[in-house]
Amino acid sequence: MCGLCLPHCPTYNKTRNEAESPRGRISLILGLAQGELEADTKLRGHLDNCLLCRACEAVCPSGVAFGPLMDGARNALAQDTPQTEQRIPLETLATDKKRQRRDARLLWLADKSGLRALGRGLGLPRALGLERFEQLAPKIRRPHDWRPYYPAKGERRGDVALFIGCFSDMLDQVTLDDAVTLLNACGYGVHVPASQTCCGALHQHSGDGDGARQLAQQNLDAFRGLGLDAVISTATGCGGHLKEYEEIASAGLPLRDINSFLNQIEWPHTLRPRALKQKVAVHEPCSQRNVLKQADAPYALLKRIPQLELVALPGNSQCCGAAGSYMIDHPDMADRLRQDKVDAIRQAQPEILVSSNIGCALHIAAGARAAGIRLELLHPVSLLARQLTL
Ligand code: SF4
Ligand code: SF4
Repeated sequence: MCGLCLPHCPTYNKTRNEAESPRGRISLILGLAQGELEADTKLRGHLDNCLLCRACEAVCPSGVAFGPLMDGARNALAQDTPQTEQRIPLETLATDKKRQRRDARLLWLADKSGLRALGRGLGLPRALGLERFEQLAPKIRRPHDWRPYYPAKGERRGDVALFIGCFSDMLDQVTLDDAVTLLNACGYGVHVPASQTCCGALHQHSGDGDGARQLAQQNLDAFRGLGLDAVISTATGCGGHLKEYEEIASAGLPLRDINSFLNQIEWPHTLRPRALKQKVAVHEPCSQRNVLKQADAPYALLKRIPQLELVALPGNSQCCGAAGSYMIDHPDMADRLRQDKVDAIRQAQPEILVSSNIGCALHIAAGARAAGIRLELLHPVSLLARQLTL
């Protein structure tokens, strides 16, 4: 109740409303738990507006575990919410690989044929209520199926598995392909088990703890028994959630974010990135800063590229507003927070922005496009892969 976390909370900073602060939300959860408050629409709204960015947790001197507290509260509230009132479309898509692959192919075809641009010109996304999705959807590479194993190049140093996730696999195969290429070049064989699924973060944070646990178990079964040195994730949102799987931790499966894994292994001495004389700003996703606590990892990795001018995007400690499905469910607050990132990009004037989380990258890219800013946005791994002759 000290209030030291308040200046670090994005929703409090934008509203100056105590009920939109970590301390206010903890009081609401306490009131609910003690039966002193009703779970009415107003109270649910204050809890629902939390981004789960965990900036409050990172600065709390008393070590209050805000993330699990909020997940628990949402889980409890979901128990007495009629199923018809629960939002599930994104969570459903996240676990439906067939539909993801079909939708990705349709998106790629629509782009390639010019239908997407035509539809946009005719105002179809707005008419169909899909404007938000259309703004966020990136131009994607032709989707491909995954082979079960990608062998190491040169001297083999070990085996890892790649966690491909749901929306990364659907909208960001470029980063996943670059991760495989880099890992292979560093001497690691890469398993991509077909039975893996969504990490369950969306489910966990929307109150479906049982669904999240089932997905954790499915992933554990997919990775177990492969003799792995690590399970590698490329999206810090997934990586942060995977790290907190008790099931996987207790099974002794080391979960690693691609940035920190590539920083810690020994690279073949022949693998030297070409110089790049450009200004690159680093966006630090909340999951990388506050959950994985590895905000330094992309800087250390990109320092391998000679002559790069590497800067932190101003205001990195504040969430960009993407926050999983938040950018869809809470467009007003998500866009207000994103505007701060767009202003920061204008201030820093980088030629490239790197982000290690696909959700943040899509959200910020859409904001930059809308503001008319010309900027390349990619994962640090993709920038590094581009500077290597592989
Ligand atoms: S998790 Fe983020 S949005 Fe939620 S209360 Fe904490 S600082 Fe505020
Ligand atoms: S969560 Fe921590 S920092 Fe925030 S009010 Fe409570 S004790 Fe203070």
